[in-house]
Amino acid sequence: MDTPRRDNPRLDIPLRDDDSAILDHLRGLRAADLPVHGGRTMAYVYDAGLDGLDELAARAQAAFAGVNGLDMTAFPSVVALENDIVRQAATLLGGGQDTAGTFTSGGTESCLLAVLTAREHARRVRGVTAPEIVLPVTAHAAFHKAAALFGLTVVSVPVDPGTFRVRAADMAAAIGGRTALVVVSAPSYAHGVLDPVAEVARAAAERGVLCHVDACIGGWYLAHRRLADGIAPPPAFDLAVPGVTSLSVDLHKYGYTPKGASVLLFRDAELRRHGWFAHASWPGYPVVNATLQGTKSAAPLAAAWAVLRKVGTDGYTELSRRVHEATARLVAGIGRIDGLRVLGSPEASLVAVASADPALDPFVVADEMRLLGWYLQPQPAFAGSPANVHLTVTAAVAEPARIDELLAGLADAVAKARAYGPTAVDPGLVELAAALDPDTLGPDEVALALQLAGVGPGGALPDRMAPVLAVLQALPPRLTERLLPEVVSRLYATGPA
Ligand SMILES: *Cc1c(COP(=O)(O)O)cnc(C)c1O
Repeated sequence: MDTPRRDNPRLDIPLRDDDSAILDHLRGLRAADLPVHGGRTMAYVYDAGLDGLDELAARAQAAFAGVNGLDMTAFPSVVALENDIVRQAATLLGGGQDTAGTFTSGGTESCLLAVLTAREHARRVRGVTAPEIVLPVTAHAAFHKAAALFGLTVVSVPVDPGTFRVRAADMAAAIGGRTALVVVSAPSYAHGVLDPVAEVARAAAERGVLCHVDACIGGWYLAHRRLADGIAPPPAFDLAVPGVTSLSVDLHKYGYTPKGASVLLFRDAELRRHGWFAHASWPGYPVVNATLQGTKSAAPLAAAWAVLRKVGTDGYTELSRRVHEATARLVAGIGRIDGLRVLGSPEASLVAVASADPALDPFVVADEMRLLGWYLQPQPAFAGSPANVHLTVTAAVAEPARIDELLAGLADAVAKARAYGPTAVDPGLVELAAALDPDTLGPDEVALALQLAGVGPGGALPDRMAPVLAVLQALPPRLTERLLPEVVSRLYATGPA
């Protein structure tokens, strides 16, 4: 922005710009971001590629931006919109007469609330005081966040190293008297494969334990895909499966709504109530919160409602068909690129691509793709899953010609990555790092570790991320968890303006 005007000598910040200068500044900031349209950003963003959808959503958001979902009695519009959305989700995802739900701000909040509800259910109904949560190692990080926030112990279950699906028998064996919740993914984020939902849910039900299906990313897509003629349906994964007691599905992923939209469904309102918070013991207004927020904008709710109406069941079914065909074309094409291999058998629209050749570093492929204008998400090696790059196929990239363009880019990036060579990590560095205790690292050791990892002063990341990722991947996860917040913290300013 231009030189700050010192209207107030105590505030060294620009004041009273006109609208166009303000909007120009905002647009200018966006120039450094990844594009959110066009299908070349294959993580984080979901583009339906439909004309007019964004404009409609923006108008719905604007109309509801000031509405406060904190008090549903003062703003009955939020109840009406939420009921419509929850009913639509329940219909689509195997719900029955008793199915209840909550509209949340996103997948993480849906997962957090599923865990909180299960913890309170276990405590109040079964008297469990030291609750555990059984998670396949492929479960989304949101469940670990929930366990950390709400005080549950994680029982981790390994997955089959070939399919990356958890084995039902291993999950069943991990269930104990303190298990509050068992989680399966449909599909998992990292590999896009479905856990054996029916078998795990049955094992949980036999022990009187709740079972959550995390269909955050794939639920809307898979449920509409099974409505498409001529495509083999996925295995049953929703609330119609006996033993499934809750399910999360994000609208801001394959519902292609603006961000801040997810649905958490429960077998019935009696289960749902355990996650709600009510408070009347203070001098202010009586509180009933179904979600984690207090004051809550109704803008994402209205925008989601508008987008669901506009696209409609037929529209989503068609988008899902396109995404399905594009994913199949992509997987087949990757199979023809020497040096790449797809991990597992992706059953949804997410593809994890590893290297089949030690001379080819998947993170260098990701760097080369970025230089070619495609963003692919690097996934470091973990628990038997090798380093890979992750591609989320959305409708905006689903034209056959676009997939072929992507495949040509990948072949080009692979050739360039071979020429560049794999990034090596100094074994001495790894040994040194392994000896560090993440809990006692002081500021000097953190600064040194970041310097060794290639992170510049001020948190500056290099253009090529492969060397940084290679170091991170070689460190013990607990050390990485100590260092990453330091990197991110350095991006943010401290002190007054
Ligand atoms: C995206 C995702 C989440 C978390 O959702 P956010 O909307 O990013 O908070 C949870 N589970 C799975 C499988 C996901 O893909």
